[in-house]
Amino acid sequence: MRRRVTEAAILTHTQSPAAVRQWTCPHAQHARHGCVTCYQASADADPELPLWEVAVWFTTTRPIPIRALQDVHRHGRRFTLDQPSTPLVYILSGQVRTGLAAEAVAGMVGFMLQNRHIVEEFNVTEIRAVHT
Ligand SMILES: [Zn+2]
Repeated sequence: MRRRVTEAAILTHTQSPAAVRQWTCPHAQHARHGCVTCYQASADADPELPLWEVAVWFTTTRPIPIRALQDVHRHGRRFTLDQPSTPLVYILSGQVRTGLAAEAVAGMVGFMLQNRHIVEEFNVTEIRAVHT
């Protein structure tokens, strides 16, 4: 089976206008900033829509407590929040069903916007959406 890969490494200040358009959701939010509307739409998505394997890398100013990391699974259904070896760097990953890659990523970051008790402040550094 062929897999269509849509991915982007976000380098602050250097995104081309085309890249910005590609990663802007239908509600005019750049995927890295998240969109609560996309998150809510993906929670009740049409099963006919494509399924995306999404990963979002972000940094925080303060460590996320272990309990909050575990909490993600309870609140985010199919989402997992991992901490690689680098301090204050985290990866949120999981599957999202949406029409566009931008909506999939915006929805996943939107999950964090809606769950500020898990991640208070974050800065998304890299996003990836793979069409499965
Ligand atoms: Zn949106």
